[in-house]
Amino acid sequence: TRKDIATPTRTKEILEKYGFSFKKSLGQNFLIDTNILHNIIAAADLTKEKAAIEIGPGIGALTEQLGRAAGKVMAIEIDQRLLPILSDTLSPYDNVDVVHGDVLELNLQELIEDKLAGFEKISVVANLPYYVTTPILMKLLEERLPLENIVVMIQKEVAERIAAKPGTKEYGSLSVAAQFYADTQVAMIVPASVFVPRPNVDSAVIRLKVRDRPAVEVDDEDVFFRVVKSSFALRRKTLLNNLMNGLFPKAQKDAVVQMLEEIGIDPTRRGETLNMGEFARLANESIRRGY
Ligand code: SAM
Repeated sequence: TRKDIATPTRTKEILEKYGFSFKKSLGQNFLIDTNILHNIIAAADLTKEKAAIEIGPGIGALTEQLGRAAGKVMAIEIDQRLLPILSDTLSPYDNVDVVHGDVLELNLQELIEDKLAGFEKISVVANLPYYVTTPILMKLLEERLPLENIVVMIQKEVAERIAAKPGTKEYGSLSVAAQFYADTQVAMIVPASVFVPRPNVDSAVIRLKVRDRPAVEVDDEDVFFRVVKSSFALRRKTLLNNLMNGLFPKAQKDAVVQMLEEIGIDPTRRGETLNMGEFARLANESIRRGY
C-alpha cells in the first residue's frame, strides 16, 4: 500500500512535483496529520454501505481516507490546478469521483442523484475553506439534502457559535439555524500545527446529525428566521425593543407586549435568552395576529 498523503514529507513531495502554490483566497490549508484524519473519519461513522461528499479535497489527504472507509465518494473542488494532482494521488481509489466546481453554485441534489445513486446514507465530510464556512453549511442544511450527518473542520469560533446554548455569548442566529436542522456537537479542537500553511485561527471539528424533521414546528420558516434575526439584532436591547425596531414597526407596542405575555415570554428578556421553542411560538403567534 501507498504512504498516506497526509504526512509532511509526502505532502511536500506532491506539492513540489506539481509546483503547486497555495491560494489564500481559496482557503487552502491542507491537513498533514493522519491522526486527525482518522478522528474525523471515526466521527463520520462511515461504512462501505454509505457514501461521502467531500468539499474541497485539496491534494486528496482526506479523500483517500474517505475512499477507504466509504462505499462511494464525491469530492467537489473549485481549483482547476488541483485536478491533475487529484487524478494522480487518488488513482488507487476507483470509488472516488472528483467534480470540478464551486460547491455554492452546483446543484447538489442532482449530483447526489447522479453520482451517489443507491446510497441511502450520505455524509458530508470535509476540511472546509474557512472563507465560506457559513454559506456552505447553510446551503447543505437549507436544501434539505438527503444527508445523515455533516462532519467538518471549521474555525473554532464558528463551531462554538453553531453548538451554543441559549443565554451564552456565542448563541446567535447561526446557532438557531443550525440547531433547527441538526443536532450539533463540537467533536474536537484542533491545533494549527496540523495544517500547511498554518491558519491564523484555531480550528475545530463539528458534527451535525441532520434531523428527519426540524427541531420545532413552524408555520412559515421564513417568518421564523426573520423573528430570530430580529431578536438578536441588538444584543443590549430587550426582545420587545428589537421586535418593535425590526419586525413589527407598525404594530402597537401594547399589543406586542400582550402577545408576548400570552405566549409566556417576558418582553423585558433579551433576545439571546430565547430557546428554539420560544422563537417558534413567537413566529407562529405573530403570523396568527397578522404582524
Ligand atoms: N481537504 C484538503 C485537506 O484537508 O488537506 C483541503 C482542505 S482546504 C482547507 C479547502 C479546499 O477547498 C481547497 O482545496 C480549496 O481549493 C477548496 N475550495 C475553496 N473554495 C471552494 C468552493 N467554493 N467550492 C469547492 N471547493 C472549494
